[in-house]
Amino acid sequence: MSLVLGAIADDFTGATDLANNLVRAGMRCVQLIGVPDDDIALGAIDTHVDAVVVALKSRSCPAPDAVADSLAALEWLEARGARQIFFKYCSTFDSTDAGNIGPVADALLERLRATEPEERLRATQPERLGGGQTVMVPAFPANGRSVYQGHLFVDDRLLNDSGMQHHPLNPMTDADLVRVLGRQTAHPVGLAARSVLARGGDATRAHLEALAADGVRHVVCDSLDERDLEVLAEAVVDLPLVTGGSGLGQALPAQYRRRGWLAEVAEPGRLAPAVGGALVLSGSCSRATLGQVAHFLAHHPGMALDPLQLAEGGAHLDATLAFARENLAAGGPVLVYASADPERVKAAQQALGVARAGELVEQALGLLASTLVDEGVGRLVVAGGESSGAVVSALGIRQLRIGGQIDPGVPWTQAPRQGQAPLSLALKSGNFGGEDFFTRAFTVLDELTGEGRT
Ligand code: ADP
Repeated sequence: MSLVLGAIADDFTGATDLANNLVRAGMRCVQLIGVPDDDIALGAIDTHVDAVVVALKSRSCPAPDAVADSLAALEWLEARGARQIFFKYCSTFDSTDAGNIGPVADALLERLRATEPEERLRATQPERLGGGQTVMVPAFPANGRSVYQGHLFVDDRLLNDSGMQHHPLNPMTDADLVRVLGRQTAHPVGLAARSVLARGGDATRAHLEALAADGVRHVVCDSLDERDLEVLAEAVVDLPLVTGGSGLGQALPAQYRRRGWLAEVAEPGRLAPAVGGALVLSGSCSRATLGQVAHFLAHHPGMALDPLQLAEGGAHLDATLAFARENLAAGGPVLVYASADPERVKAAQQALGVARAGELVEQALGLLASTLVDEGVGRLVVAGGESSGAVVSALGIRQLRIGGQIDPGVPWTQAPRQGQAPLSLALKSGNFGGEDFFTRAFTVLDELTGEGRT
C-alpha cells in the first residue's frame, strides 16, 4: 500500500478533526493512536487507505519528546510511501517559546531532506537544497480562524485578545505568527501575504520559491477564506512537508485528485456493517453535553454515575453495570453519564479533590466500556475529550477507520477487532454536537453502513 498523505497530529482531537476533513474531501482515512508499531496492519477494515493521521500527545510535552515521537511517526509514514507529510497543530497555533511547532517542523524538514538523494533534489527542487522549506497554514476560516499579514484572528479578535492569552498550558500572548515562530526556530521565517495569494497558485508558488532561494525555511501563510486555502493547496502540493490546521487538510485532496493520486470514491466515509448493542458513555460536563444528556433521557433509559458514590467502593459501579446490562438486553440504546451541572461537579471536587473526582469517573467509564464491549456492545458513543481518551486506552484501541460525520468535527469511526466485526465508536469532545446528538448518532451510523437504506 502506498499512502498519498501521512499526517502527524500533536493531539488526539486535532487528529480526528483533520481526518474528518480529509474524508469529507474524498480521502479514505485511518487514524492511528500513538507512534505506530511496525506490525500494525492497516486496512484491517478496508484494504484501501489514502491517508493516515497519527495522533500524538506532543502539543505540550517537552520539545525533545515531541521531536522524537514526530520523527518516529515520520519514519513509519515514509516507509508506507506517503507522498506528502502534514504536521497538524491547532488552528490557534498552540505553542510556547520553547516549542513545539518550530522544533518539530525543523526536525521533520531536516529528516525529509536527509532521506532524499542530493542529485535528485538538484534536478527537481533545487530550492530545497538549503534544508528545505515548509509552510505554516493554521487558518480554518469555517471555524473563524483566519490569518492576515501573518496575524492570527479568532473570529473578529486577534489571537492575544481571544481568550487564548489565558490558556493554562500555552497562553498565546502574541498574534504575529512570524514573530511567534521566530522565537521557536533558529531559521528565517517569512510571510506569504494575501496580496500574493490573490494572484493565484502559480504566483504563490513562485513567491515561496523566491523565499526559499533566500534561505527562508518557514513561511507563515495568510488565509481569510476557503479560496485562499485552495490557492495555497495548489502552491504547496509538491512540498514534501506542509504544516497547519485542518482547513488546509480540506483543500489538499482536490490537488491530489488533479495529480491523479486519488481514486474517485463515491463514499469515502462508508463503514463496515455495525453489530452489537448501542451504548453512550458521557463524562463531559460541558453545556452542550448536558443538553444532549437531557434530550436523550427524554426518550431512552440512562443512569447517573456519581463520583461521591464511586469513592465509597464497588457497589455503585456494579449497580450501573447491572442497569446497563438490563437495558442493553431490552434493545438499548442506553446512557451512563457522570455529566453534572457545575454545582454538583463542584461538590464532588470539594469532597474528593479535582484530580481524584476526574480519575474516579474516567476509571469507571473505562471499566464500563471494556466490560460491556466484551459482553457485546458494538456501537459506542463517548462524550468528553479526556473521557474519550480514557475509554480508548481501556479498550486498547490503536487504529480507527474514519467514517462520515455525525455533526461538524465528529465522525463515526471503526476499530478493527480480531475475528470479530469492528467496534463502531464516536468520540465527541465536550462542546460539539447538536442537542439530539446521542440519538441521531445511531441513525447516522445506519446510513453509513448501509443499514438505514431501503
Ligand atoms: P470535555 O470534553 O467537556 O472537556 P472531558 O471528558 O475532557 O470533557 O473532561 C471532563 C472531566 O470532568 C473528566 O476528567 C471527567 O472525569 C470529569 N467529570 C465528569 N463528571 C464529573 C462529576 N460529576 N464530578 C466531577 N468531575 C467530573
